[in-house]
Amino acid sequence: MPERLRNLVLQRAHNCCEYCFSQADYSPAPFGIEHIFPTAKGGASEPENLAWSCQGCNGRKHTFTDAPDPYTGFLAPLFNPRTDKWEEHFAWDEEFSQIIGLSPIGRATVECLDLNRKEVFNLRKLLVPLGLHPPR
Ligand SMILES: [Zn+2]
Repeated sequence: MPERLRNLVLQRAHNCCEYCFSQADYSPAPFGIEHIFPTAKGGASEPENLAWSCQGCNGRKHTFTDAPDPYTGFLAPLFNPRTDKWEEHFAWDEEFSQIIGLSPIGRATVECLDLNRKEVFNLRKLLVPLGLHPPR
């Protein structure tokens, strides 16, 4: 991945995971570039197909592009940070520690990527009183 492209993706995301909103500055594991439409399925390494992602989200997304909506059981596309607006598909709970899926896309993505997994949930709980979460 060319350095210039990597920097573009990182800066565009303000160094936050574009799925769970974890911040790379508070993660022990390095973040990386994620192909929204996987290279294994022909996805290109172009800015409009790339997202900045934590290892937890990247690993869980794998080569999936859709997942079942847990409410209906029907397949829904996973959230696309380039074409979908986060706030149309997700909301924070009152304590900013859990992400709530608002739409089939949101619910399928929360479930598939496990956006409220224990370690990110715990980190959010610690960062909120310090004014460091959610990121601006
Ligand atoms: Zn993440």
